[in-house]
Amino acid sequence: MQRITMKFGGTSVGSADAIRQVIDILYTRFESGSQVIAVVSAMAGVTDLLTTAAQAAAEGRRGVWQETARELRQRHAEVLQALVTEGAQREIAQREVDTLVAEFEDLCGALAVVAELTPRVHDLILALGERLSSRVIATALCGPGVPARQYDATHLIVTDDQHQNANVEFNRTQVCMDRVLLPALERGELPVITGFIGRTPEGATTTLGRGGSDYSAALIAAACHCNELIIWTDVDGVMTTDPRIDPRARVLSQVSYQEVGELAFYGAKVLHPRTVQPVQERNIPLRVRNTFNPTHEGTLIASQSAPSATVIKAVTSVPHVGLLTVSGSGMMGVPGIAGRAFLATARVGANILMISQASSEQSFCFVVLDDRAHAVQHALQGEFTDEIDHRLIEHVELLEDVVILTAVGSGMRGTPGIAGRVFTTMGAQAINVVAIAQGASECSISFVVDEANHEKAVIALHELALEPV
Ligand code: ADP
Ligand code: ASP
Ligand code: MG
Repeated sequence: MQRITMKFGGTSVGSADAIRQVIDILYTRFESGSQVIAVVSAMAGVTDLLTTAAQAAAEGRRGVWQETARELRQRHAEVLQALVTEGAQREIAQREVDTLVAEFEDLCGALAVVAELTPRVHDLILALGERLSSRVIATALCGPGVPARQYDATHLIVTDDQHQNANVEFNRTQVCMDRVLLPALERGELPVITGFIGRTPEGATTTLGRGGSDYSAALIAAACHCNELIIWTDVDGVMTTDPRIDPRARVLSQVSYQEVGELAFYGAKVLHPRTVQPVQERNIPLRVRNTFNPTHEGTLIASQSAPSATVIKAVTSVPHVGLLTVSGSGMMGVPGIAGRAFLATARVGANILMISQASSEQSFCFVVLDDRAHAVQHALQGEFTDEIDHRLIEHVELLEDVVILTAVGSGMRGTPGIAGRVFTTMGAQAINVVAIAQGASECSISFVVDEANHEKAVIALHELALEPV
């Protein structure tokens, strides 16, 4: 028997009309005899609303969170009224919504008293978005006679306590899935699971990073040995670039796990960067499809990529980053400088997105998100106090307002001249390239340009990924 996990993103569950589509898709697959697991995001915009409200609550701005509570009640009640006929089921679901919104108000009230938003409470508040949407969707699915049942992923996904970006403990997660989810499927249920959230072994609710429902779905598909994972979203598939930056973007029919991993890591919002690993390990085909255009085949992601007329298949960008450069003629041949720099960076909780070193060894540079860039600069200055005093290191510089651009395509391996074409294109647009790095996989080239040139650079580079029509 086929077993499939389907994940529906925020826009796909953003209104009663959208959820009707979702129900249709789930119902059709379930009726055809497959075992189906649904993973759902919060309704579009809800996670942002919850973040803003939590911050406002910690600052004592009661009006903001009360307005959010009103909006949460209204949006979820509207869906119930539109999709569930009046009766006991609707009443139960409505009461659950009311209880969750009351929990939100209590948490905000407590935040106003302590005047501090801890990561732990922040996660508890963020998790409410998925807890609300999953209850409403599971109830709506029962209408057409599907034995749907809501599950909180806190009973399924075990993580460490790195709130807001928790790391999954795979073995414990597998045990929970085996204990809870497999029997549910055997009973003929259609589980509707909260994306985005997990729980520490001690019982604290955690979240997997913004956009993390894709990762939840991949974990579930892998742990349950699904035959397929479908990420249903609001575009037809993985595209040659972000369609909001260049409307000429086209859907790619097939890409490899490796290519999509690079795309997601370097900013393609369509998939959370961690999504690929669990499904790649079990060789589970992953499809990205459009909830609002369900006859379109979407993009297939598997171990092989389809041949492409252009070597560069797609272009992505990561804005809001800072470039740190450590330089000094005395660094040459001194072992361990880079290692110490990276450890100092990790100690302030910053993630390195790209590294590049000049062959002279007189400088190396790396890129972090700009919200941590100043902290990293201070950490590096502290780490290298002695070297700076002795003039072995002359500068620890931070260049702000830059963006990483990445060109992806497995055909780059063994095709000479691709880097040349990329940089000639930038030169032709008079765009200055500040730093360059090529992934070890040789299926991507990344480089840094000024943020002012962001869109112009993406559009120019995207030319190289567009096949002639
Ligand atoms: P969901 O809520 O379904 O998870 P997201 O908003 O997280 O959806 O991701 C889908 C969006 O990602 C699309 O609407 C599109 O604007 C954006 N996007 C950015 N880069 C790409 C790309 N290369 N291919 C497809 N979509 C992309
Ligand atoms: N609701 C969460 C977010 O907006 C998770 C997700 O949608 O994947 O980030
Ligand atoms: Mg998403």
